[in-house]
Amino acid sequence: LKTFSLTILGSGAALPTAKRNPSGQFLNCNNRHILIDCGEGTQNQIRKHKLPLQRISHILISHLHGDHFFGLVGLLSTMHLLGRDKGIHIYGPPDLEQIIRMQLEIGGSRLPFSLNFYPLQKIKNQLIFEDKVIEIHSFTMKHRVDSWGFRIQEKEKERTLNAELFYGEKRSMEHIPALKKGLDVELEDGSKLLSADYTFPASKPKSYAYCSDTMYFEQILQSVLEVDYLYHEATFLHKELDRALATMHTTALQAGEIASKAKVKNLLIGHLSARYETGKELLAEAKSVFDNTFIVEDGDVFEF
Ligand SMILES: [Zn+2]
Repeated sequence: LKTFSLTILGSGAALPTAKRNPSGQFLNCNNRHILIDCGEGTQNQIRKHKLPLQRISHILISHLHGDHFFGLVGLLSTMHLLGRDKGIHIYGPPDLEQIIRMQLEIGGSRLPFSLNFYPLQKIKNQLIFEDKVIEIHSFTMKHRVDSWGFRIQEKEKERTLNAELFYGEKRSMEHIPALKKGLDVELEDGSKLLSADYTFPASKPKSYAYCSDTMYFEQILQSVLEVDYLYHEATFLHKELDRALATMHTTALQAGEIASKAKVKNLLIGHLSARYETGKELLAEAKSVFDNTFIVEDGDVFEF
């Protein structure tokens, strides 16, 4: 069962091109609709790809370079015009709240829905949201301004009941919750129902991590360890390492190294500099160290 659906809205770096919009991703995780970064044009991309704009409940903003958030106030304004009344939760660098509220206020807009803002903290790894099914963590990265990565993951799942066996033996339903949790149940006659007999193992929780923008930074390894999909920026080819260091970005080779060291299952590279006509060379470079690499294009969908 696929419980994650990730749509790439923007795969380019700071300079938008006809082919690549600035950063934005739409993640549906167990029917939680999460927007990650919101560069200029993000709302058009959401509509172009027929994604449910009003169902976005959480917006995560990595840092305050324009190509990661210039589309935010426009999106909020559109949500308002389309009649939204459900509140929204925005996680971003502390200064973002003031920027949003000032832009709205000066234009005289009063949102008819609540805007709940949560400033990200400079903590190596922090749980910023959880419900019964998912968790969202933020972690600090290294860029010219404060920048955060995000990890969205499912919680540990319960084991599933072997209904045929359980009901076949006419067992009492009151024991189901314990068995699903992996606990054995002692019956009044002293006999035992073993969880291992009556349930099947839980499926492994899935996870996704987003790292853009950052320079090569091994401190993030722990936060992205073994995720199913890691999106990591790969702005430059390694032959332009000087440029990558000066602008505090990552090369495709380095993105592959992070993926390899963090033992992730798949690597997605994006945030590609407009100087590259195609991503071919970047992809080949990342694949030279980490084979399961994919280069993203606007509109790509990854389901897992
Ligand atoms: Zn940046």
